[in-house]
Amino acid sequence: MTAFDVINPATEEVVASVELAGLEQADAAIQRAVGALPGWKAVSPGDRARVLRRFAERVDADLENLARLEVTNAGHTIGNARWEAGNVRDVLHYYSAAPERLFGRQIPVPGGVNVTFAEPLGVVGVIVPWNFPMPIAGWGFAPALAAGNTVVLKPAEWTPLTALRLAELALEAGIPEGVFQVVPGRGDVVGQRFVTHPSVRKVVFTGSTRVGKQIMAGCAEQVKRVTLELGGKSANIIFADADLAKAAATAPSAVFDNAGQDCCARSRILVQRSVYDEFMAEFEQAVKKVRVGAPADESTEMGPLVSQAHRERVQSYVDDAPVAFRGQAPDGPGFWFPPTVLGPGDYRALTEEVFGPVVSVQPFDDEADAVKIANDSDYGLSGSIWTRDVGRALRVARAVDAGNLSVNSHSSVRYWTPFGGFKQSGLGRELGPDALAAFTEVKNVFIDTQE
Ligand code: NAP
Ligand code: MG
Repeated sequence: MTAFDVINPATEEVVASVELAGLEQADAAIQRAVGALPGWKAVSPGDRARVLRRFAERVDADLENLARLEVTNAGHTIGNARWEAGNVRDVLHYYSAAPERLFGRQIPVPGGVNVTFAEPLGVVGVIVPWNFPMPIAGWGFAPALAAGNTVVLKPAEWTPLTALRLAELALEAGIPEGVFQVVPGRGDVVGQRFVTHPSVRKVVFTGSTRVGKQIMAGCAEQVKRVTLELGGKSANIIFADADLAKAAATAPSAVFDNAGQDCCARSRILVQRSVYDEFMAEFEQAVKKVRVGAPADESTEMGPLVSQAHRERVQSYVDDAPVAFRGQAPDGPGFWFPPTVLGPGDYRALTEEVFGPVVSVQPFDDEADAVKIANDSDYGLSGSIWTRDVGRALRVARAVDAGNLSVNSHSSVRYWTPFGGFKQSGLGRELGPDALAAFTEVKNVFIDTQE
């Protein structure tokens, strides 16, 4: 085992040292998960539901502690971090209803009775990125556990603390040993082992498109089930007939929330040419008002970036780009980066995912032009459409190739509804009523009733 120093992104201080698992520890955890499977499968649906509800209640009781941990570990604002811990609770509650509703079907056939069962897959490996350590973990482990699988979860090296705490809460709630384990370690060691170990029957991966492609290729070796939630370059399309004041006032949080480290960030703003200047004037005022600072401060709207290495990566996108205007950021220790607005032109940040508080604004001429620009991307995760014309809102929503669109608002992730990407933004869907299908295998059984 090697130790990893966890750093507070707002102060650059070491806040904890976490032992990283190597291959041996990863294999041992997977073996424990295999051993725990029969017992967990045998728990009656009502009891499995009850223990998941208890898990949710433990998370709720620990909400402030979990939120403070995330402020310290990831530099998330306290308001966001409370929402994130609450999201884990809510997702657990939502899927705690599933074990008792995991229906199969009776299908009419000649000569007998035919029924289907939704069987658990086995051991599920969940690989989590650093940008939303709690929610993304929960979207994987909650439905996986509800469906009767056991789970090994690898948090990102930079942000393991809340996942480790969630594993403790699970045990306290009565989730049996080995059913839900958090295994901190390197992606190319522990994460990769989830891909290659034959006892892991599914990998749920959220992270970069580059690593996602490697995971998918690796899983093909064993025809292993895989769900991928990858990058994005989402468009916020603003038509001339929109409520321009509201569109301008909300555009900053749609991209700068979580310091832009959000796969759903609306990092391309497309504005109809006739209102471009008016929008830019209002948008500039809104951007300059964004409160960037100490994440534990209740009034802070944006914290630092997650690490020095990431700040350098984000900066490299701005070096060669046409900066229109910028907001504020503190000086001194911490991985700060000011909200940055780029104008039209030809530069990397226009097409590549920056994953920082950087947005480009481009004009468009008409509806067809807006759709064409929005779809001119390898990604297709989310997007927003601002217009008062309901017909246009629906036409454009249907025409944009993305998994999650929002009209006159910037919603992406709501646990009641399916979430995931088109094109290179991912494969499969998480959350919503159908998530259990991604954690079960359909088994068909025919019973001959003829004499
Ligand atoms: P990343 O480098 O792809 O890492 C994601 C996770 O995969 C981490 O836990 C990482 O471990 C692990 N990993 C790295 N290499 C691996 C390998 N060869 N085999 C198995 N696992 C491996 O991405 P990131 O830098 O953490 O996160 C930023 C990216 O994630 C952005 O591109 C963003 O768009 C995307 N993202 C997408 C969504 C979505 O829902 N669509 C959500 C969040 C983030 P280490 O920590 O050790 O590197
Ligand atoms: Mg990485």
